[in-house]
Amino acid sequence: MLLKTILNRIQHYKGFVYKSVQIDQSTGRERIIDIEPRKNSRATCSKCCKKSPGYDRLPERLFMFVPMWSIPVLFRYRPRRVNCNVHGVVVEHLPWAKGKSSLCNAFRFFLSQWARLISWSQVADRFGVSWDSIFESIKYVVDHGLKNRDLSEVQAIGVDEIAIKSGHKYATVVYQIDAGCRRLLWIGKDRKAKTLLRFFHDFGKERTERIKVICSDMWKPYLKVIAKKAVNAVNVLDRFHIMKMFNDALDKVRREESAKLSKDGYEPVLKNTRWILAKRPENLTDKQRPRLKELLSYNIKSVRAYLLREDFQQFWEYVSHWFLTKRQYSSGIVEAINANAKMTIRTAHGFRQFETLKYALFHKLGGLPLPQINHKFF
Ligand SMILES: [Zn+2]
Repeated sequence: MLLKTILNRIQHYKGFVYKSVQIDQSTGRERIIDIEPRKNSRATCSKCCKKSPGYDRLPERLFMFVPMWSIPVLFRYRPRRVNCNVHGVVVEHLPWAKGKSSLCNAFRFFLSQWARLISWSQVADRFGVSWDSIFESIKYVVDHGLKNRDLSEVQAIGVDEIAIKSGHKYATVVYQIDAGCRRLLWIGKDRKAKTLLRFFHDFGKERTERIKVICSDMWKPYLKVIAKKAVNAVNVLDRFHIMKMFNDALDKVRREESAKLSKDGYEPVLKNTRWILAKRPENLTDKQRPRLKELLSYNIKSVRAYLLREDFQQFWEYVSHWFLTKRQYSSGIVEAINANAKMTIRTAHGFRQFETLKYALFHKLGGLPLPQINHKFF
């Protein structure tokens, strides 16, 4: 009796009533609650949710509800079929469960919220359901969230790659990195130009036009696609990769010049200068500092390249009003979210399928709106 009172309080469904509560005779554990349609209430079509004339009733089905005091609770109900004037004879809409699932929506919500805190298999163990039931529960909340999320305010995104399957396979991830909302927006297999093109296709032209900032590393296939697709966006590249390019270029100039100088019979001014030129002057050792000073007195290509790089360093200290507003976006934000994603992948056992991984990541990092449940159980 107590169980029925609680259910009427927290989980009342319009047009349905809870009948008797019975204890499963075979196990002596499960509580089974019969549900019946309220008298004179009409069933609704599960396709369009319109009230329709009744047709017949199907055999009874059991639906797992949230256990109480670790005692399994099941709903027992014989679904009606309706004769909808649009969809013909179809099964009625059930407010507590969806489709063929034997788990109540409330139970799926409950399991999915636990799966954010502990591993999927631990949740399965704890509540006596299968791993597939956990996946089904997460799919339910994530699908709902993806369908109902609001993407109209996305102005800043970060693009990154992530290793899946012990480092040999990659996925491309796109995050929203606006100050008020940081979350996973999209994930696609591979890290090719084609992959990122798919994101822009899914995201749509209008939304893409509203993007103002894109942070990415200097992976060439991404850069090309970003330049082509996100025409209104500034592509913020990270400092580390830009300086690495400068250093690579400087080293190339030094090597070529060094070879040429020694071929022409000059004294080896550039010998053993690779690290002297690569380092910032303030990081040189006491031995290296005089070498640099001497080197700078020569009017050679390598020196000019070195000075160019040092000039560019000042760019990082340069702060204009425009730059200040853009500075809130950096690859650091992207890397922080990506570190979380990597953790999810690492702690995920049994996520061999890309599809499963995708759901796991959206569940953890998607910042998705949750389905409306009368009572949160949490
Ligand atoms: Zn219908």
